[in-house]
Amino acid sequence: MSGNTKYIFVTGGVVSSLGKGIAASSLGLLLKQRGLNVVLQKFDPYLNVDPGTMSPFQHGEVFVTDDGAETDLDLGHYERFTDKNLSQKSNVTTGQVYEAVINREREGGYLGRTVQVIPHITDEIKTRIMRAADEDSDIDIVITEIGGTTGDIEGLPFLEAIRQLSFELGKQNVLYVHLTLVPYIKAAHEIKTKPTQHSVRDLREIGIQPDILLCRSERPLEDEVRNKISLFCNVEKEAVIEALDADSIYEVPLRFNKEGLDKIVITKLGIDCNEPDLSQWEEIVRRIKAPSEVVEIAVCGKYIHLVDAYKSIIESFIHAGAANAVRVNIKWVNAERVEEDGATECFAGVDGVLVPGGFGDRGIEGKILAVKHARENGIPMLGICLGLQCAVIEFARNVCGLDAGSSEFNPDIEHPVIDLMLEQRSKSKMGGTMRLGSYPCEIKKGSLAEKLYGSLKTSERHRHRWEVNNNYRKILSENGLIFSGLSPDGNLVELIELQSHPFFIASQFHPEFKSRPQKAHPLFKGLVKAAIEHSVSPAGKVRQKMEQDK
Ligand code: GLN
Repeated sequence: MSGNTKYIFVTGGVVSSLGKGIAASSLGLLLKQRGLNVVLQKFDPYLNVDPGTMSPFQHGEVFVTDDGAETDLDLGHYERFTDKNLSQKSNVTTGQVYEAVINREREGGYLGRTVQVIPHITDEIKTRIMRAADEDSDIDIVITEIGGTTGDIEGLPFLEAIRQLSFELGKQNVLYVHLTLVPYIKAAHEIKTKPTQHSVRDLREIGIQPDILLCRSERPLEDEVRNKISLFCNVEKEAVIEALDADSIYEVPLRFNKEGLDKIVITKLGIDCNEPDLSQWEEIVRRIKAPSEVVEIAVCGKYIHLVDAYKSIIESFIHAGAANAVRVNIKWVNAERVEEDGATECFAGVDGVLVPGGFGDRGIEGKILAVKHARENGIPMLGICLGLQCAVIEFARNVCGLDAGSSEFNPDIEHPVIDLMLEQRSKSKMGGTMRLGSYPCEIKKGSLAEKLYGSLKTSERHRHRWEVNNNYRKILSENGLIFSGLSPDGNLVELIELQSHPFFIASQFHPEFKSRPQKAHPLFKGLVKAAIEHSVSPAGKVRQKMEQDK
């Protein structure tokens, strides 16, 4: 099927954090497995132009696409579920929409007319929805998730735009899916449908009648409850879909399929296609749920109070764990705590250490201590972006004996082993001025990186301003640091590793953005494998025993 793109809109009601991103991704996967060409996008109703400048403490991880867009973390789910690389077209914010409209107004593009939310903002929104299918004329379905919760003032222009689209494109081409909460009230021993009724009423008030309701609930929805929701919300009973809490997010598509979600969608949209082939996905879920063995890996960062800040890292560990038939327990270690309590105490018993990316100098010394501890004690270690920079600083200080640091944290440092790239020096804006997106990397023959990737080339996603300072490459390598990945022109360091260590590798790029449940990322897979080996090694056993004796 092609040529006639259909549009599915996913909205959310009652409360936030119901998992709209997972719901949209799951539907995307089910339709893809039916042989349809699906693309997902997210509309965020905030005024930031992109989440790039937003604090991970508030907003969670910033996900980066191949083309260098800094996007909402839900795009990570979209990519992982549908195994499709997305682009900047897949994340649109109110800020972008207004920016485009205001720029056009300044250029005289509106020929003196009054520029208004309706129709100008809504037209821009509609253009951007349609744009998702622009490049690829074979897109069968665009799934658009509308961020926020029904009833939010900010969301209104988006809802108005998607209402208009059904009118313009025809009902048979547009479908509204509404994710809602059906809470269980303990004191009354009852499941309550009223919040859902209200949320649907809000939608209907603005002219949107949901076609399908996804009902998040702790308890199964009895027939009676389904009937009630169906009647009061004006949604067919078969289209009232139960969405129970799942052990793993990867199980959600399978459950939706059992509830008949994808069948209803294609029936309502009049699409003729195959039954979905879910065998590979079932196998993935089986592998994720199967392991009884556990390895513990410490993640030493500063945003650990909001684990959403490390969403893709968490998912990458799930993929890498499944690939190695273990479950990875993440021990969250606050980098600032390492400075106070020392690395020996903070990392007791762990079989691996990951130092993730980050910005700003808080916790830096703790991260450097974490790297030192892993390096000196033969604990498997993976550094990512800032993690690589900390590893280089640590090596320069403690092995090469330099008073080393990064000019990001101390512009006057004697040996800036991490320094700003020349082209970054002139930039004063914060948004969109980093080295962003996919860049090729050439891997050194005979390195650990080559063993892990099974290749001498890769391409990985970046999000940073600072780089390894080439003036120090000689002294660092003379002392045993291996630059195992470089940009094709040899100018930028992409991977470093240590020879005399069981597993010590760090990347300037973010491998976590490219890990998929179907294919764990080689660096994560390698770290988990090394952690398993470490856990059964004498060093690992002694550590675990010490932990038990405490
Ligand atoms: N702050 C560092 C830089 O900008 C590292 C960024 C990151 O870890 N993503 O280079």
